[in-house]
Amino acid sequence: MSESAPVTSTDTAPGSPVAHNATRSADPIAWPGNTSAAAILSFDLDAEAVVLSSDVTNATRLSVMSHQAYGPLTGVPRILRLLQRHDLRATFFVPGYTAERYPETIATIVDAGHEIAHHGYLHERVRGMSASEEAEMLDRGLAALWRVAGLRPAGYRAPMWETTYATPSLLMDRAFMYDSSLMDCDVPYILAEHAGPGARSLAEIPVHWALDDWEQYAYLPEVFGSGLIESPAKVLEMWSLELQSLASEGGCFSLTNHPFLSGRPARLRALEQLIEMMRSLPSLWIATAEEVACHIRSLDLQPRSFPPAIIE
Ligand SMILES: [Zn+2]
Repeated sequence: MSESAPVTSTDTAPGSPVAHNATRSADPIAWPGNTSAAAILSFDLDAEAVVLSSDVTNATRLSVMSHQAYGPLTGVPRILRLLQRHDLRATFFVPGYTAERYPETIATIVDAGHEIAHHGYLHERVRGMSASEEAEMLDRGLAALWRVAGLRPAGYRAPMWETTYATPSLLMDRAFMYDSSLMDCDVPYILAEHAGPGARSLAEIPVHWALDDWEQYAYLPEVFGSGLIESPAKVLEMWSLELQSLASEGGCFSLTNHPFLSGRPARLRALEQLIEMMRSLPSLWIATAEEVACHIRSLDLQPRSFPPAIIE
């Protein structure tokens, strides 16, 4: 082994760490009634927005556009039939651009009793955005959902789960009840703006890449994906283990699917088998993200907060 150079501070070092209350994990959750764990089925209706935000010239590529249009045109109707078969309500996170392009799809989701939540306007990635730019994106998405569906969403999920240290406060400014973008916990919690008294807060419903169909199925040459498309059987096995493990620990199984990916027949068949497993767990509460957020906010949980950003 070669001797490595001594570590020195540089102009790019982040500075001394700010102490975090890392020794305290989240409070255990008392789930409703006789249940001891929760599960949320969510669908991120990215459609064309996700490929236009990364490269607007994708708008000229008919096949790329059609790949994304599969979600609202073919995936969503099949997903709605699946949810109806099992008498389940789900949460659809919708970019404002998608709502404006597919108002009839949004109407069918709303009419079926599902929750619509905020997912940016053009599925913007906020990395490098100023707080005012991020605020403008949030307001544009809110305006689109109001214009198309006449609704004010209770929840927000950041596109690509990419947030800034300004995001929680911007959501609180707009009276969002919950966010679903962070990854530091197995159960939902109350995220406070700061550690001091009187801090504003919102419910946080954590997510993780392992419970997202994007990593399993997404493949669009020259746009995204590794080229490896996983078998739905492997995905079902992985998610079943996650479900059983989280349920045994009183956690919240928060699953993210995209209609343009999981709306395809074999993948939705695998999801149906997972739903059958969920329904076989009598102590599992299957709810929308808004219902879980309402429940979390009704509990007397100790809020969690984050230290200030290391780099302003
Ligand atoms: Zn998305």
